[in-house]
Amino acid sequence: MGTVVVFIFAYLVVIYLCKEGREMEFHEANRLTPEGEQKVAFVDIDETICFYSGKRRYDLSEPNYDNIAKINDMFDEGWKIVYWTARGSVSGKDYKQHTLNQLSEWGCKFHELKTGDEKPHFDLVIDDKAKRIEEL
Ligand SMILES: [Mg+2]
Repeated sequence: MGTVVVFIFAYLVVIYLCKEGREMEFHEANRLTPEGEQKVAFVDIDETICFYSGKRRYDLSEPNYDNIAKINDMFDEGWKIVYWTARGSVSGKDYKQHTLNQLSEWGCKFHELKTGDEKPHFDLVIDDKAKRIEEL
């Protein structure tokens, strides 16, 4: 009988600690962007601010100026804008200068560009801070 009580007590302690851990994690996430500090937005490029009507070749990407304006508005509102693309992460080619030229040509306002291995290839993002460009 005593063993069962100890087991139940230990189980309840574990449940309580897990719950506390989740709450602490949530509060920790809030502290990353306290009021008054510049917020940082990582912004994808392909199929976010530019699209492809034919072959998906970076030099053939077509800017979407409505979407670029949404990001430029965030820049003007004080966000730190980091364009973040996996261009070159699979092929190993360096698309940084090419992409910088495109962003400049399209009138994109931003602070930083990360390319290649700085954003590895993936097929899905699961993130509590993610938004699609259509949601902005
Ligand atoms: Mg994309």
